[in-house]
Amino acid sequence: MKNIILIAPPGAGKGTISNYLVEHYGYVHVATGDLLRCEIKTNSPLGQEIEEIISKGHLVPDDMVIQLVWKKLEQIHNKPFILDGFPRTLEQAKVLEIMLQNLHFNCMIVYLDVDVKTVLKRIEGRKICNQCQKVYNIYSEELKPIQEGLCDNCGGVLVKRSDDDKEKMKVRFQIFEENITSILDFYRSQNELQVIPASTSSIRDIVNKIINEAKF
Ligand SMILES: [Zn+2]
Repeated sequence: MKNIILIAPPGAGKGTISNYLVEHYGYVHVATGDLLRCEIKTNSPLGQEIEEIISKGHLVPDDMVIQLVWKKLEQIHNKPFILDGFPRTLEQAKVLEIMLQNLHFNCMIVYLDVDVKTVLKRIEGRKICNQCQKVYNIYSEELKPIQEGLCDNCGGVLVKRSDDDKEKMKVRFQIFEENITSILDFYRSQNELQVIPASTSSIRDIVNKIINEAKF
């Protein structure tokens, strides 16, 4: 299986798709958000620095994120990985490319093409179990609970997630769109890009398309 760099706007279902690839195809999920949170927990000097930056509401500088991604990728042995949450800018894409070459990793770039209308609708339908945190979506045949309002796993009550705010999501989507064209142009010039139309596809279809491309 090829390594995957997964690029998608917020709310496109990256988390669900990554989980599927981890559970069924042996991928390691490398999410930069998780790496940052983990480093803060270890209370290392770098972790302390990152915590201070985030608490001020600033963005964590590229070199710090790259350092964490590098450390993580060095620990992965003979397992394919999905990189999620990075790169978000052209600069980051260029730095990442150099790092991957140095580590001798070949990657396929997967871009999930989703429009803002679809994302906002998904956000509207998204519910999370207040007990086990399982994520549902009442507008998706694959992700809606068997019994309305209740978790299939544990019977917990399904509630809205606190960060699922439509206005905030619009802003995050806009920031994403400002950077995405140059990132995609960069990868297109290197012939590594797979664009997957994801607005109308089910998660199952998207995963199948990714796996088909990743097999060779
Ligand atoms: Zn539950």
